[in-house]
Amino acid sequence: MPETMTSIERVQATLEFRKPDRVPVDLHNFQPAAAMLGVSLREIFQNGDLLAEAMLNAWREFKHDMILLENGTACNAQACGVEVVYDDDSAPVATEPVLKVLADIADLEVPDPYTTFPMCEILKATRILSHEIGDKVWICARADQGPFALAALLRGLSNWMVDIGLNEQPALIHQVLDFSRRVATRYAYALIECGGHSTSIGESVSGPDMLSPHHYRQYAWPYQKLMVDELKAKGIALAIHICGKTDPILADFVATGASILEIDHKTDMQAAKNSARRRTTLLGPINTTLMYTGAPSEIDDACREAVEILAPDYRFILGPGCALGTATPADNIHALVEAAKKYGVYQ
Ligand SMILES: [Zn+2]
Repeated sequence: MPETMTSIERVQATLEFRKPDRVPVDLHNFQPAAAMLGVSLREIFQNGDLLAEAMLNAWREFKHDMILLENGTACNAQACGVEVVYDDDSAPVATEPVLKVLADIADLEVPDPYTTFPMCEILKATRILSHEIGDKVWICARADQGPFALAALLRGLSNWMVDIGLNEQPALIHQVLDFSRRVATRYAYALIECGGHSTSIGESVSGPDMLSPHHYRQYAWPYQKLMVDELKAKGIALAIHICGKTDPILADFVATGASILEIDHKTDMQAAKNSARRRTTLLGPINTTLMYTGAPSEIDDACREAVEILAPDYRFILGPGCALGTATPADNIHALVEAAKKYGVYQ
């Protein structure tokens, strides 16, 4: 059956709870896209021109409907002074936190994304993609990390979890979270100003695999909700990414009001659909390990099952449940994109 919508129209319809011609496809592919370019990932993830070229090349190869643009999960942290190490083969990693004690938060300033590395490079990549293909493909320019994830990197993950577990300085914990929310929100505005159609935050460390649902509700949810509300008031759609098993917090996750919830294969698909139905769009949930090690026929099977369960109310975007690994085979990515066309057509 011929397609009757452009990628932009397809994603727009999905987010507005109208019926698209078929399920849209997203690729969380900054690592394999960079590997395809044949330049070291270390260079690409620090250079907006190269990052844009990598994402553009990958889009020409796969023609997915939604591009997730980012350079990994340490951008905001680095902009705030956290030490980050770039690697030749994978995403950058935060190594040295900036808050020796929680009270150090008083010394931090919200960075200006236009002048602060590496945010300014991602903004450059956003402008290039917007100029080149912004009328053809949906650009989700990620304001990763979200409030809780950024706070964890500013303080160091294990210190942060101890701070929360002991709960001796709740006011300072809230201060760090609110600072982190302001960093991500200001960056999100800049990404949209540079041509992103929507934005997204990663908050996986706030999920039940890492944090109790009680602490999620106390410390993560309120800042996710504030960020959703502030952006929504300006007409900006925000996605929240929590990979791992989110079943115990699904109702809260939906109640953030986020336009899109990014889930992975560990979350029960039917439970997620029951919580999300007619209230938000689900994105995912294809297993990234399967994408790396499986055969195209296995990807096809997983996508068919996901479409059957998650697509019926039109509020579903098919994609990997998390960032694709650097060496994910192109055949498997093609299998995912094709599956949406095979199984995701709405009659
Ligand atoms: Zn993830």
